Amino acid sequence: MRTVVYSSPFVPAEWLAAHGLRPVRLRPGAGAPAESLGPIMGMCPYARAFVGEAASMPGVDGVVLTTTCDQMRRAAEWLALDGGPPVFLMNVPATWQTPAAARLYRDELQRLGRFLVGLGGAPPSRERLAETLEAYDARRAALRGALGALGPRGASEAVARFDRGAEAHDAALRDLGRGGSPDPPRLNRTRGAQDAGGAAGQETRRARAHSQAVPLALVGGPLRRDDVRLFDAIERAGGLVALDGTESGARTLPAPFDRRRLRDDPLLELVDAYFGAIPDIFRRPDTALHEWLGRELAASLARGIILWRNVWCDLWAASVVRLRETTGLPVLDLDVSGEDAGFGRTGDRIQAFMEMLR
Ligand code: SF4
Repeated sequence: MRTVVYSSPFVPAEWLAAHGLRPVRLRPGAGAPAESLGPIMGMCPYARAFVGEAASMPGVDGVVLTTTCDQMRRAAEWLALDGGPPVFLMNVPATWQTPAAARLYRDELQRLGRFLVGLGGAPPSRERLAETLEAYDARRAALRGALGALGPRGASEAVARFDRGAEAHDAALRDLGRGGSPDPPRLNRTRGAQDAGGAAGQETRRARAHSQAVPLALVGGPLRRDDVRLFDAIERAGGLVALDGTESGARTLPAPFDRRRLRDDPLLELVDAYFGAIPDIFRRPDTALHEWLGRELAASLARGIILWRNVWCDLWAASVVRLRETTGLPVLDLDVSGEDAGFGRTGDRIQAFMEMLR
């Protein structure tokens, strides 16, 4: 089966799958196997890592990028220059409140469909599209159900496995069913259990540390694979991510589908669940993101916000002042260049922020 990789949460995996292709939302590693042609200065380290990995990954038949930021537009140009797989740049309108904007997104999905057919895919019938949407919706519901039982790092990794495709996700859910959670659950245990040795004791000590930890919200752009170390660094500093509002977390999952409307017009339902529902920083106005944050911050009881900001990312850079004003919470503006290999500077800054919160 032909493989198409993408980065943005506004690219519906089920649209690719319904064309008979394998969708992989790539979370690139810090050290891509081949360096991209893109410059280091002025380029978002996430976009750079994505270009490097997408260009050098074996078995990639096509790449889909979006116009959601200037860096990703440029990434599409660099990928084309690298002589790698065919690239499709999907136009996702920043405005979202008018029917015309939703129509444009729908038209872009249809244009993407023609690109997928050019790669060897087949246009889906209405029935096939509806069945594919239902299958993804069921898997996503299972994912949402599993996230609550995982620690913050485990939840982030579970979303990444889901994004890598159906096989990886189904295998992970089977592991969870066998009790193989990659992160201990956040549960308080009895005194007797706390004294137990071995893995159970370790789990309990960690659960106790969690119960004393300062709840935080992690908000911002996408994480690379290695960036999940961030969750460990926060825990070592005495904090706990009670809300993952990064682009790589549950914030960017589409809304659940309406099963009845899905049968009537599956493409319209796809547009509503993605374009009509995902709150993100590039959208204008950005009220949906701030409403989501207001609701989720209150539920999480977060006492501070760590803003995960890739350097050269204008969108998140412009949000710092507004985040402070609208939430009233202390904000650590954590700019990351991708060059702090040992996470030393990042860990020190988190430590200092935590000391200020205590
Ligand atoms: S982090 Fe910012 S600049 Fe980088 S890809 Fe995301 S939105 Fe674009």
